[in-house]
Amino acid sequence: MLIKEKCGLAAASSQKEANVLPLIVNMLRALQHRGQEAWGLAVPGKEPWRMLGLVSESLGKAAAICARSPSPYAIGHTRYSTVGRTVLENVQPMMVGREFAIAHNGTISNTEEIVSRLSSYYDVPTWASDTLIVGYRIHYLLSKFNGDWFKVFEELAPELNGAYCFIILTKAGEVYAARDERGFRPLCLGWHDETSSYVVASESCALSVIGAQLIRDVKPGEIIRIKRGIIETHMFAESERPAHCAFEYTYFANPSSTLDGVSVYEARKRLGYELARLYKIEADIVIPVPDSARPAALGFSQVSGIPLEEGLMKDRYSKKGGLRSFIEPALKDRLEINRWVLPVEQTVRGKRVVLIDDSIVRGTSSRTIIKALRKAGAKSISLLSTYPPIRYPCFAGIDFPTKEELVAHKIGSDVEDLAEINKRVAEEVGADFVGYNTLEGLAKGICKPLTDLCTSCHTGNYSCLKKTPQYTQRMKKGRW
Ligand code: SF4
Repeated sequence: MLIKEKCGLAAASSQKEANVLPLIVNMLRALQHRGQEAWGLAVPGKEPWRMLGLVSESLGKAAAICARSPSPYAIGHTRYSTVGRTVLENVQPMMVGREFAIAHNGTISNTEEIVSRLSSYYDVPTWASDTLIVGYRIHYLLSKFNGDWFKVFEELAPELNGAYCFIILTKAGEVYAARDERGFRPLCLGWHDETSSYVVASESCALSVIGAQLIRDVKPGEIIRIKRGIIETHMFAESERPAHCAFEYTYFANPSSTLDGVSVYEARKRLGYELARLYKIEADIVIPVPDSARPAALGFSQVSGIPLEEGLMKDRYSKKGGLRSFIEPALKDRLEINRWVLPVEQTVRGKRVVLIDDSIVRGTSSRTIIKALRKAGAKSISLLSTYPPIRYPCFAGIDFPTKEELVAHKIGSDVEDLAEINKRVAEEVGADFVGYNTLEGLAKGICKPLTDLCTSCHTGNYSCLKKTPQYTQRMKKGRW
């Protein structure tokens, strides 16, 4: 089974023994955009509760858990995504031994190596995900280092190839939050006054929703221990540069979040400025592909002077309409979501449209939306992408398909000239013009040096991982 992790994490630890479970449930609701398939909660000394579907679909169950099992320490997880069946045994947090529950955001790519280190001590099930395998390794190292978690992570870090943020809850109620030394995935620390709790979340939007204050980001290579509401911190690994995932800023994260000091909303708006500087287009209106491209379309409109209009509406009341198509594992589900992105005929009829999207991955959404806009009477459609061409798989936590499925790869992996890539992708998706952002434009928009970002899915350069993956596509990895 192929299991891919790119998820939302939440943790809380109260100094005054307040029940933090309701906080965790609300934080997970705010992180739903990071995982739509399943979610779970854990408190010390109990089997985690794990459910399929959205948090909002099980609110009654969640309320019952909060009332029945109050706890001052808890962690939670929203999950994305699997190929194959979504089954409860893969939902997190996962219990390891009877010692701790673990939840993970990221991808560990060298699981076979870790399993081989464990084989004399553990019978690792063949279905075990990367998270559970690392959980077993932590379990082993804890006994080796007499329960010293800081030493465990010092030993573990050089062994792991990939991206990770872990949150862990021990049976004694200690919360641990650890972020890999490159800081691929976001993780932040906050304070919730009402319950006197430290809270940890994948994104600051989860802190905002419960009225908590953002204190800071968890540093790359840092582990934080929260014991009865008291914090201790330790640097377990270092690297010469960070490699924050650029795709978090363009697509994945909530625009209200601040990641590593950068407002996602502002970054997206600046990406729109960059596109307007790169591509001078004669057009009547600029419209965003909802929802993640809205700030970029606004930025494009402000610099180009082309009026911004809402020309596409997501029907939030249909079963799939409110979901995000990219993170749905099945093609039929992605198509179903795109079918519920409806053109506003009165806005687009007879107009030359600049359509702004955050990225073009498989080309499925672009093709469907362009077709719908043409049917609604758009005179011409220029599609601009805030992310440069995605041509290689991600091995650090985002579920890009195999490279053969990526439209910018399919049009010819040997084509390096951006104008030619633009032209060929336009033909593939049925647009009059396609314009991708450049790497420089991406870094400028995010307001970070290019050297602080991971852009491997565009460049094919995996030097920010410890080892370049030997496989050319994710399916070849076997255990995942
Ligand atoms: S390869 Fe792309 S999607 Fe994956 S971490 Fe790097 S920038 Fe993000």
